[in-house]
Amino acid sequence: MRMKPMILQTTIAGSLPKPAWLAPPRQLWAPWLLQGEALAEGKRDAVRLALREQERAGIDIVTDGEQTRRHFVTGYMEHLEGVDWERTVTVRIRNRYDAKVPQVVGPVTRRQPVHADDARFLRAQTGRPIKFTLPGPMTMVDTLYDAHYRSRERLAMAFAAILNQEARELDALGVDVIQFDEPAFNVYFDEVRDWGVAALMKAREGLGCRTAVHICYGYGIKANIDWKQTLGDEWRQYEGIFPLLAQSAIDQVSLECANSKVPIELLALLRGKDVLVGAIDVATEQVETPEQVASTIRAAMKYVAPEKLYPCTNCGMVPLARELAAAKLHALAAGAAIVRREIGENGGTATGST
Ligand code: ZN
Repeated sequence: MRMKPMILQTTIAGSLPKPAWLAPPRQLWAPWLLQGEALAEGKRDAVRLALREQERAGIDIVTDGEQTRRHFVTGYMEHLEGVDWERTVTVRIRNRYDAKVPQVVGPVTRRQPVHADDARFLRAQTGRPIKFTLPGPMTMVDTLYDAHYRSRERLAMAFAAILNQEARELDALGVDVIQFDEPAFNVYFDEVRDWGVAALMKAREGLGCRTAVHICYGYGIKANIDWKQTLGDEWRQYEGIFPLLAQSAIDQVSLECANSKVPIELLALLRGKDVLVGAIDVATEQVETPEQVASTIRAAMKYVAPEKLYPCTNCGMVPLARELAAAKLHALAAGAAIVRREIGENGGTATGST
């Protein structure tokens, strides 16, 4: 299924909280509480619930809420060969916080498709357009210790080749949008220019579906909140990255706008691209009002045409309480509906249906 042209279609960055019977709530890398076949069935049930929450709220382009993986990066990497999970090493992630990570001890390869079954299940469970998220190559490199390649670029290219195989399978299974999560793009600007965008392009090569990249200021965890305090009154990290992405073949860019100090005029640097505008702050327990969401959308509309603007969340909502995330989904859809009504369903420069 391909998306019908419609303005201000809503979507989410990717993750949603997991049910308490599947994993302890409100923590990253939460362990699974089920095992074996019960775990497999529990994950499928959690995907059904995540879909139901999004559909009930009125989200247009839905995800599996990342219910089948423990973490957006390691949840993929744990399926690869060449990565040793027994002997973890403490590294500094995104120059910000220390985490115990696995080490690369040999060539990285993929034994078998990682998410094909997940995508097949998701496709069968909903009639709406679906988005599937994968970690980006640079962010993968930044979440482990490399004792083999000894080159962030070479390792990123090896990951990109694996991600491309994965993405081609997801595309063939009817996924409408494949999104690569690259929060590391907001930190390593020289590397983004030197090889980061090239690795991302290698990951998306030959795909028929839409492709997106998500670049944010992180989950609402303490290390990220502390880091944001150091960034000053204006966050201009996107300024160097967006022109490179605007020239690239990526279709969509997912970014942070709600409650953020990103100067809104930086969106003009993404001319020609679909922009997934973060209108929900994932770092606060406050639920946005629909009117607050609408005002973020209106501000972004000065720089992005409504048929290219997708109201979205700032980042994943996995660390939030479940009820809170559900309320934020409703606010997102309701805020988009306000602006849609203001400009008319076929307003802006949208050309109607085909
Ligand atoms: Zn994010």
